[in-house]
Amino acid sequence: MAVVRTGSDRLRAYQEQKDANFRKGKFIPYVSLIDDGDRAHFRIVSDHNEEASEESGASSSLVFGDFHRKQGISVRGKSLYHEVLCGLDWDEDNEIYTGECDFCNDDIPKRTKFMMWVYVYNYYHRNQNTDLKNPWEPVLINKEKVYKQKVQAFQVWQDGYYMQQFVDEKIDSYHTLVDRDYMVRRYGVKKSNKVTRSLTESQPKSINDILDPESGTPILTLAMDLPSLYDIASGEIETMDGHEVQPVFEEVALDFPAEEIFGEEVEGIDDLPF
Ligand SMILES: [Zn+2]
Repeated sequence: MAVVRTGSDRLRAYQEQKDANFRKGKFIPYVSLIDDGDRAHFRIVSDHNEEASEESGASSSLVFGDFHRKQGISVRGKSLYHEVLCGLDWDEDNEIYTGECDFCNDDIPKRTKFMMWVYVYNYYHRNQNTDLKNPWEPVLINKEKVYKQKVQAFQVWQDGYYMQQFVDEKIDSYHTLVDRDYMVRRYGVKKSNKVTRSLTESQPKSINDILDPESGTPILTLAMDLPSLYDIASGEIETMDGHEVQPVFEEVALDFPAEEIFGEEVEGIDDLPF
């Protein structure tokens, strides 16, 4: 008999594959808010520039630049996308781009985005896990009942111009990104092309006091071993151990759209006229 996979079977298989990959230190995990009301609660470990990182002790600095969407094909023949930093450099003095970029040569559009490492404590969802064998804990946030998905791991947070405005406000106010926790929340139903995200912060708490519950090690110490953001952004590294380039397209070749695998990306959100 042919095996017919239902939506929840697929979701479970996807999740298992994702977990297995992560345990083996495989592909780079991205913060991914899929449904309306989804929230990610995290501590940023990449400060806004090198000077700030030196001062705060942050393990890395965020990467900001123009990203191309590189298309790949899964083993099942589906299209998958990956964001890769444009190879051109902006020459301030002469006000021209220098260098070479294959994607620019191929006229692949690019968008301004940032990328940083964050330590995700938990995701919060409006609805219970569809995998009933692994229910999430119901909790209250501001009197709203939500379900807590424990993560306790590093993920790459990538977002566009609109969110950058919020991040810039925090930098202006606090002069560092690593001195408090943040919550990103999605507004917009699944697969909607009208999605916005908000960013709220908690009271300051030294990053040196944040320990990974499993190992008891400060997250800042663990963050020192993370792959370079620049290498990830430029497409040099696609896995946590940094050795294999490309296996992502085979490892996660399930029937899920690229948005849910490589971090949420909604067409049009960066086209807002401000
Ligand atoms: Zn380019």
